[in-house]
Amino acid sequence: MAWRTRFAPAPTGLLHLGHVANAIHVWGIARAFGGEVLLRIEDHDRTRCRDTFEDALLDDLDWLGFVPDVGSTDSFRADRHGHPQRQSNNAPRYAAALDALAERGRTYVCTCTRRDIAALAPHAPGEEPRYPGTCRAAGHTAAESLARRVRLDDRTEAFEDRALGVQQQCPQQQCGDVLVRDRHGLWTYQFAVVVDDMTHGIDVVIRGVDLLASTGRQLQLARWLGRARPLDWWHHPLLRHPDGRKLSKANRDTAISERREAGVSAAALLGEAAALCGLLPAARDLTIDELPALFR
Ligand code: GLU
Repeated sequence: MAWRTRFAPAPTGLLHLGHVANAIHVWGIARAFGGEVLLRIEDHDRTRCRDTFEDALLDDLDWLGFVPDVGSTDSFRADRHGHPQRQSNNAPRYAAALDALAERGRTYVCTCTRRDIAALAPHAPGEEPRYPGTCRAAGHTAAESLARRVRLDDRTEAFEDRALGVQQQCPQQQCGDVLVRDRHGLWTYQFAVVVDDMTHGIDVVIRGVDLLASTGRQLQLARWLGRARPLDWWHHPLLRHPDGRKLSKANRDTAISERREAGVSAAALLGEAAALCGLLPAARDLTIDELPALFR
C-alpha cells in the first residue's frame, strides 16, 4: 500500500509562491518515493476563510498541474458542506476527540483571554507566548467558557526529521498546555490538524520549516489520542533569494492568479518557486513531470 502525505492549504488568501514551493515538495517527494497526496482544505478558522479563496486555490492547483490522489479539486467544488477533507465539515470528529481526551483527564476549561496570557507570560515580539497553566487547577465549569486546553507533559519529544535530522522539543516549555478550542468554539489549527492526520491516514507530513516548532506538541496530542505509529516529518526550507536575502513580502506574496493573468506560464512559476527554495540553482521552466527528479 502506498504511503500518504497531504497538501493542506488554508483558504485565508490567494495561493502564492510559498504554497507552490510546498506543493512542489509534497508532490515531488510523493511521486519520487511511491506516496500518494491527499488534498485537505484547512478552514478551521471560519472568521478568516472565504469560499472565494477556496475556489481560487482549487483553480490554481488545476492550472499548475498538481493533481491530488485523494480528494480531487472537483470533489471539493461539488460538495461545499459535506466533504470530509474540509475542516469546517469535521466539527463532530474534533468534538469526539476532545471527549476522548476529557475522559482521560487531559483537558480543562480555560477562561484566560489573549490579553491575560500576554500579561502573565511576557515574551519578545515575534516569540510565542507560553501559557503558564493558570486555569489548570482552577476547576472552571463548562458553562464558564467554550475554551479547552489539553494538559501536556513536561517531557522532551525527540523525532527524526527527514530533512533536518534529529530534533528535540519540549512543548510544555515552548507553549504550555495547548488550546484546542477557543472561547468562541472555534477548533484550533494544532488540534484539527492532529485529528485530521489520524483520520485521513497520513504517514508523512511535508511542510515548511516555519511549522517545525509545532511538531512536538502535535506529537504529544497524537499520542494522547492514541496514534499507534508516529508520523514521519519532512520540514523544507522557505523561499529565499539564492544569496540568502529574504524575499520581499510583495515578491513572496504576489498571488499566483495575478501572475497567471499577467501572462506568466505555470512552468515558469514552478521553476521560480523551486529555485527560491533551493531545489534548482537558477530559475528555469519546470514541468510537473520533472518534480520527482529533484528529490531522488
Ligand atoms: N494549513 C497550514 C498552512 O496553510 C499547513 C498545516 C500543516 O502542514 O501542518 O500553513
